Amino acid sequence: MGHPTNPGCSASLDASKLKITLSETLKPLQPIETLQFGKTFSDHMIVATYDPAVGWSAPEVKPYGPIALDPASSCFHYGGNAFEGLKAYLGPDGEARLFRPDLNMRRLERSCARLALPPIDGDAVLELVKRLVNIEKRWMPEESGYSLYIRPTIIATRPGLAVTASDHALLYILASPTGPYFPQGLEAVSLLAVSDNVRAWPGGTGSHKVAGNYSPGFLPQIAAAQQGYDQILWLFGEDRRITEAGAMNFFVVVKRDDGDGLDLITASLDGTILPGVTRASCLALAGDPEFQKETSLRLHPQEKLYTMSDLVKWSSEGKLLEALAIGTAVIVGPCNRIGYEGKDIVIPGNGLGPVGTALRKKILDIQEGRTNWQGWGVVCS
Ligand SMILES: *Cc1c(COP(=O)(O)O)cnc(C)c1O
Repeated sequence: MGHPTNPGCSASLDASKLKITLSETLKPLQPIETLQFGKTFSDHMIVATYDPAVGWSAPEVKPYGPIALDPASSCFHYGGNAFEGLKAYLGPDGEARLFRPDLNMRRLERSCARLALPPIDGDAVLELVKRLVNIEKRWMPEESGYSLYIRPTIIATRPGLAVTASDHALLYILASPTGPYFPQGLEAVSLLAVSDNVRAWPGGTGSHKVAGNYSPGFLPQIAAAQQGYDQILWLFGEDRRITEAGAMNFFVVVKRDDGDGLDLITASLDGTILPGVTRASCLALAGDPEFQKETSLRLHPQEKLYTMSDLVKWSSEGKLLEALAIGTAVIVGPCNRIGYEGKDIVIPGNGLGPVGTALRKKILDIQEGRTNWQGWGVVCS
């Protein structure tokens, strides 16, 4: 990757060394209707530490709870924190499945490298994720749309205020039972196009899942909410390029001039876009002849630079058919209007259109193990 990594010569993370200390009392399960994203956590977590003298410790399953850290730890001062988000679903066969977790693990390795955190073996993290999922199986709701959200996190724990790479790290993996991402369920979200604050920029860290990308977005998000919008559509540059929606990738469906079906358009991975697993999956499905056949949709997936003026033009010509927010938490969600320069670009329909519906259904079918697709569903046992 060209990024210098710490010279740690010692033990790599070894999932086979997992120590298991189970909780003596298990928490009561919560009625699924009351689940809110990321609010409830399961009984256990997995932790492992990296010390430059010995490398990665034996990972341990232990009761979920607070962790004690030196207040001078690098993560508290300089934002050393890389994370992932993936879901485990219970299939009709009773097996827990992950969705393309190898992509999350490669991304975690890249995020750690970008922050010069100690090197981590994503395959070992995946092994640990599977072990945690199996231990926490009672937390997996059987209902469609519900799952166990898994949050592997690696933080910089070098004690001391020197502004330098951390040679110590802590890995922890949390599990949180979860339902629909937006409180209003699958109803459409409204977006406010914002250009005076930017989420990511060329040469920055927007293409990595690192904590520092998120908190600068909270203040603009509050301002957008005060204007009556659910999420921000992040723009970039003088030409108002469309990048992402909140912490999700963004797609539009546009009717083609040549009458040959529909374009499914999203921004290309130019360094300002988070390379989402859901994004990659939607692009792959849209271009797949078998998917097109089973959905009777003629789709042309396109990763390219497009701007607000394109959007305004497509909308005025009646060609803008769907706008979609995409990510692990939401899967595929509809957007109904985009506030821009004091006006709203209105997306026709309310709720998911045909393309959003077909993509969401296919991805959920794969995630929940109702169909096999190119090895995308990975069984945990
Ligand atoms: C995680 C994330 C996404 C979605 O990625 P998935 O792998 O599909 O969950 C999109 N944008 C941002 C900024 C993200 O952090």
